[in-house]
Amino acid sequence: VVPADHRFRPGLERIAAYRPGKPAPLGPDGRSFKLSSNENPYPPLASVTRGLAEALPESLARYPSIAAPEVTAALAARFEVEPENIVLGAGSVEVAGQLIHALTAPGDEVVFAWRSFEAYPILTRVAGAVPVEVPLDADERHDLPAMAAAVTERTGVIFVCNPNNPTGTVVTRAELESFMAAVPERVLVVIDEAYVHFDRDPDSPSGIEFFRRYPNVVVLHTFSKAYGLAGLRIGYAIARPAVADALRKVALPFGVSRLAQEAAVLSLEAEAELDERIDELVRERARLFDGLLAAGLAPVPSQANFVWLPAGEESARIAEALERHGISARRFAGEGVRVTVGLPEENDAVLAAAAAAELVAA
Ligand code: PMP
Repeated sequence: VVPADHRFRPGLERIAAYRPGKPAPLGPDGRSFKLSSNENPYPPLASVTRGLAEALPESLARYPSIAAPEVTAALAARFEVEPENIVLGAGSVEVAGQLIHALTAPGDEVVFAWRSFEAYPILTRVAGAVPVEVPLDADERHDLPAMAAAVTERTGVIFVCNPNNPTGTVVTRAELESFMAAVPERVLVVIDEAYVHFDRDPDSPSGIEFFRRYPNVVVLHTFSKAYGLAGLRIGYAIARPAVADALRKVALPFGVSRLAQEAAVLSLEAEAELDERIDELVRERARLFDGLLAAGLAPVPSQANFVWLPAGEESARIAEALERHGISARRFAGEGVRVTVGLPEENDAVLAAAAAAELVAA
């Protein structure tokens, strides 16, 4: 078949499709561990599975509600905001895209730290905007003064990923305060808190608190990580009504399925049960960090459900050594390897691989 000579959009050739974390390879003893996508390792809650089974027959042939009144009301109550402040999407990544579409014209700029969440530059380019990547500092943290200095007349949106993916680092409340004072109010500051439930740093800012105090702050949350609903695709923004209305205009209709809405409501009702799992993951994070450090690696202290190993040119070798032990981690060529905190036996497998000394430079 001769390929058709379509007129693809100019610039499309510079956009790389999003690459998901790899599935787990088969380990030496037949076991394999997928620690490449920061998913929640626990099985779904029984109450969620039961509720979804009940909702299933009515969920398939009919379109879901775009207004999603139950989950919207539950979130508004949870964060003491108005339902008008909540905008749902098929994962927070979809809402991040909507924010860029709604707040930038072609050629406008989107500022974010780098390295940070892989999707930011892709979503920016897809919208026709220009990514402005501000390097992390020597401690793999956001360089907020440099990010504020990167703002120009053309800046529409800034993403502050807190905790940052893939480094697990956080900004402090005081740093964010100075940053907000330096950024013009017309620029939207999106605090992406995908991993906020795992953050135990007492100096960390609360995105909601900043949202209440600054009219140009939007908070992004997801049900994919702490709530364990990555497969159902539901996340949301908390935003001022003017921004929320703009997001609804650029949203694809019916993006959030009824099952996703149902699971989100049931998960919010089961927060106490979920919190126990989150606490366990935070304990396991410390064990993973200590073990990797003891093995001679250089993990970065993390406030998320993953640990970052900056390894430069050694990254491929480390990722391949993990794969030989049946572990799929996320490799960033020439920069580092990110390992998601899993169940205790999964973290044991990572530590066994580290103890086998293959991960450490010869
Ligand atoms: N923000 C950050 C920082 C992330 O790491 C991710 C997922 N990897 C997302 C947003 C998007 O998650 P989801 O679309 O599943 O809500």
